[in-house]
Amino acid sequence: MSSTLDQHDSAYDAERAGFQTLASHRPELIVPAASADDVRQAVSQAAARGLPVAVQATGHGLPVAAEGGLLITTGVMNAVTIDPAAGTARIEAGVRWEQVIEAAAGHGLAPLSGSSPVVGAVSYTLGGGIGLMARRYGYAADQVRAVEVVTADAELRRVTPDGDPDLFWALVGGRGNFGVATALEIGLVPVQRLYGGALYFGTDLAGPALRAWRDWTRSLPEEMTSSIAVIPFPDSPHAPAPFRGQTVAHVRVAYTGEAAEGEELLAPLRAVGPRLTDTVGELPYTGSAAIHNDPTKPSGYYSTHSLLRELPEEALGALLGARAVVEVRHLGGALTKPQSAANSVGNRDALYYAGMLTPGLAPGSDLTAVRAAHEVVTRALSPWATGGQVLNFLYGDQATPQNVRRAYEPADYERLTRLKTTWDAQNLFRLNHNIPPA
Ligand SMILES: Cc1cc2nc3c(=O)[nH]c(=O)nc-3n(C[C@H](O)[C@H](O)[C@H](O)COP(=O)(O)OP(=O)(O)OC[C@H]3O[C@@H](n4cnc5c(N)ncnc54)[C@H](O)[C@@H]3O)c2cc1C
Repeated sequence: MSSTLDQHDSAYDAERAGFQTLASHRPELIVPAASADDVRQAVSQAAARGLPVAVQATGHGLPVAAEGGLLITTGVMNAVTIDPAAGTARIEAGVRWEQVIEAAAGHGLAPLSGSSPVVGAVSYTLGGGIGLMARRYGYAADQVRAVEVVTADAELRRVTPDGDPDLFWALVGGRGNFGVATALEIGLVPVQRLYGGALYFGTDLAGPALRAWRDWTRSLPEEMTSSIAVIPFPDSPHAPAPFRGQTVAHVRVAYTGEAAEGEELLAPLRAVGPRLTDTVGELPYTGSAAIHNDPTKPSGYYSTHSLLRELPEEALGALLGARAVVEVRHLGGALTKPQSAANSVGNRDALYYAGMLTPGLAPGSDLTAVRAAHEVVTRALSPWATGGQVLNFLYGDQATPQNVRRAYEPADYERLTRLKTTWDAQNLFRLNHNIPPA
């Protein structure tokens, strides 16, 4: 097994660091795993010593920061193998989306990746995965063909929907609760390019752009997936020049159809008025990071969200009044289709995801005022909320047992707790979005 690290090792701090800097794991031991066998031995060691297990690939989705326990890091398990004939990829636990995008593009294929290409592909997919083409192709989880996983008994298994439908169903959606995934086999889609990019509107047009976007989403084909963020940029030299001091409405567009059709579809949004920047055009999928332009440098952030059935005028008002960055994603389309009976990803009925983000928080910040600011908006949105939550977007103290339960259909959650009892009765895998045994 690769050597373990504890707090006295000079590599300890670098190994536990991740993208989220508001909090970080402080485990008793870290196992930087280089192979599935390293993961197997680490789980065996944790079980023998009674240490709970945490896993970190990139640290984008940190739920509970481990205080003690054993942290398995997977950053160097990053092999990607494409099977062009089958249209699939085998991706190891530490792979980031950018690696899959590059490898698949050589074969005219693409994965169902999300807004940021530096997010870890395995955790994203096992938590559902709402991607750039979500309305056209559904959840990334719906493309999982096999999960290679080390379960709590320290056995390495290859789990498929036919071979072990119950464990497969629990793993794909239940993420780290049933074991440490060492690799996934996923389906790819035949996409090489998009009509995509971003429209940025300045302060005066931020409200009209949000309203126009909402109206526009009411009659779109599934080939169009889009979202909008309303971002207050500080009047500081650190902010990009065209956006400095402006509250910017950033519309993100990914259309899988022809460019001419995309341009026609987009006309009502461009008619809102002049853009600060307009990058929407023919775009290779390898350039898809430019659609959301997510930050790539580690930082501290607090985020909450609601899933909504509709977006009436009062909801828009609440979002525009938020003291936070607001992001609304258009769901529906293929996300609502039931090709997913093989997995436990829930909440397929929502039409909008409304997220709030407070970025730029120093490690260990007092979150009282931030929480209160988010709570005001959450309460205002509640008449239109489905009550559901998205596992992938539950960060830090939002990964409570109550919120995790809300990520699933009620009967599915009960089934997950029963399967947790079967596969991990001791709750060895509890430093995560935890589903306790029944
Ligand atoms: C900037 C940004 C953009 C995002 N965009 C999207 C998006 O467009 N769509 C979307 O659906 N989500 C998105 N997310 C959410 C993201 O999918 C989740 O946070 C995901 O968990 C990140 O995985 P990671 O490996 O990068 O992070 P990590 O923090 O390393 O992992 C998160 C958790 O996943 C579990 N885990 C990690 N690896 C394994 C493993 N091998 N086996 C079992 N459990 C494991 C652990 O519990 C771990 O704490 C985004 C997040 C950020 C910060």
